[in-house]
Parts: sequence; C-alpha cells; structure tokens
Amino acid sequence: DAAREALGRLVRDVPDYPEPGVVFKDITPLLADHDGLAAVVAGLAHAGRDADGRPVVDVVVGMEARGFILGAPVALALGAGFVPVRKAGKLPRETHAVSYDLEYGSATLEMHTDGVRAGHRVLLVDDVLATGGTARATVDLVERCGAEVVGVAVLMDLAFLPWREALGEVAVTTLMSVG
Ligand code: 5GP
Repeated sequence: DAAREALGRLVRDVPDYPEPGVVFKDITPLLADHDGLAAVVAGLAHAGRDADGRPVVDVVVGMEARGFILGAPVALALGAGFVPVRKAGKLPRETHAVSYDLEYGSATLEMHTDGVRAGHRVLLVDDVLATGGTARATVDLVERCGAEVVGVAVLMDLAFLPWREALGEVAVTTLMSVG
C-alpha cells in the first residue's frame, strides 16, 4: 500500500550511526515528502480505529522526539489530543518517571501526571521499535495514570530485536518490518 511504498522509497539506511555496527533508519526524507508523510500518518491512525473506521482512542502519546512529529497529526486524524513523553528533566510540572536499561547504562522517560487520565484509551506512536525499551517504559507511564493502552503504532520494527518480548500482550501495529 501507499505507506509501505513510501517507507521503502524514502527511509535511508545510515551505517555506523550513532555508533559502529548500528544501521540507523533515517526518516527525515519521508517527513519531507508530503505524500509520503500523509500516507504514513494515515497508516498509523488506522491503529486507532475500529473495524468500521471509528476512532477508539482519547489520547495519542508520542515519545521524544520523532514520536512528537508523527503523533500530533495522528491525534488530529483521530479527533484525539496529544501528550508528550520526554527524556528526564524536560517537562515543567509534576511527572511520573520510568527508568529502563540500555545496552550501556539506563534512560529515564517522564510524562506529566495529568497527561492522561484514568479510563482514557491511549495509542502510543513512535517511528521505530528496536529493543522495545522506549515503548515498554511508555506503556508503564500511561498505566501508572490508570489509563488503558489500546496499542503501539510505529512506522518500522527491527525484526531481529526482542521488542515483542518487551511488550508482552500489548497490541503492536507496524507499517513495515525490517531485517
Ligand atoms: P528501543 O527503545 O525500542 O530500543 O528504541 C526505539 C527508540 O529509539 C525510538 O524512540 C526510536 O526513535 C529510536 N530509534 C532506535 N533505532 C532507530 C533507528 O534506526 N532509526 C530511528 N529513526 N530511530 C531509532
């Protein structure tokens, strides 16, 4: 379909970024292309609709930083609001925080405690699922507010990494598997 075609044509592999041995998926050419951007936003928004096309989410949560770019238009397409999850220390008011392990060291993500409310149905949006650590931490932040995670929607998953195990029973929509 149009989203897959755009991903195949407009995402660039960058070898040895951000460190030797890693092949980084650069989505900036996709973002720069109106038709490609529209196609992937529509594809991600599909994850927030029922079989009849009706939106089933109250809030879209996007993870810093590419989840902001993609998540806000997805929220508008679904008639939902947008809430950011940010790296530690960036949000100005009271936050929930979740730390998770990286290959070297750890990272902390935060969300405002009133970002999502108990009972809200939430769709998580990001560009790439790799280990699943970022998405897992975001699921935990949303659930800490008493809200329900409807699913995670991403442009691409790296199929050779263990994101499925990290996310347990959480529904995942990925527009393209790579690797
Ligand atoms: P994870 O936490 O699943 O290991 O990594 C996913 C996070 O790192 C996402 O927020 C994503 O933006 C970023 N990321 C990891 N690998 C890549 C990549 O190859 N390309 C892009 N664009 N983002 C990546």
